[in-house]
Amino acid sequence: MRRFLCFFLVLSLLCIHPAGQAATYTRVEDTAVALMDITFTCGCTRTGAGTMIAVNGLITAGHNLLCHTHNKTLKTCTFYFGYAKPNDWYYKYNGSFRYAYYCNFSSGYSSKDDIGYVVFPSNVGNNTGWYASTVQDDYGLSWEYTNISGYKNNRKTNDWNQITVVDSKQVKWPQSSSFQGSCDGGPLYWFYEGLEYPQVIGVYTSSDGSMGYGRRLTNQIFSDMRADGIKFN
Ligand SMILES: [Zn+2]
Repeated sequence: MRRFLCFFLVLSLLCIHPAGQAATYTRVEDTAVALMDITFTCGCTRTGAGTMIAVNGLITAGHNLLCHTHNKTLKTCTFYFGYAKPNDWYYKYNGSFRYAYYCNFSSGYSSKDDIGYVVFPSNVGNNTGWYASTVQDDYGLSWEYTNISGYKNNRKTNDWNQITVVDSKQVKWPQSSSFQGSCDGGPLYWFYEGLEYPQVIGVYTSSDGSMGYGRRLTNQIFSDMRADGIKFN
């Protein structure tokens, strides 16, 4: 699948804003996840979630970067890292950035390539922290309990469940009512004793009511991110 790389610029005198008025969340598990306040060139708006996985790189669902109804790209996006409620977040970014996505919704929505990433021109991660990340093979994924995070009704929402492999790109798990809807783009991750940082293996993409779906990170995505200037350790 081709990726589509875009450039995005906000006319803002202040490209980087200081931390929010308060900071409810202080753990990397929370501060490295952003609520994304999104508008598209078609006029649609939405909120989603994205996760820092490098000092200058974030992953999210593709449909937070490309409108899944009209196949149109971003117009504006503000990132509220560690968002808790209005006027309560850990770090806000509304400057310029580059982004790329793997999806194409010209034939309708599919979760299969519903993933993309953001390249920040500055080291946003020095303020927010970032998750570890990995490509996990099928054997390591099947029936593993996995955490998911997102923003439902603009409130941080977490869940965990056993995921199963759909194919080389997708996973699914039984959906709980607490996580249905509006959590799109947040991390699928593990955080257990012995791990210094949460380790993300993909992004939450969608649900069809009873099942949730996620898009896995792949070697191709890491290769593309590096080529686009994302600095992994
Ligand atoms: Zn639209």
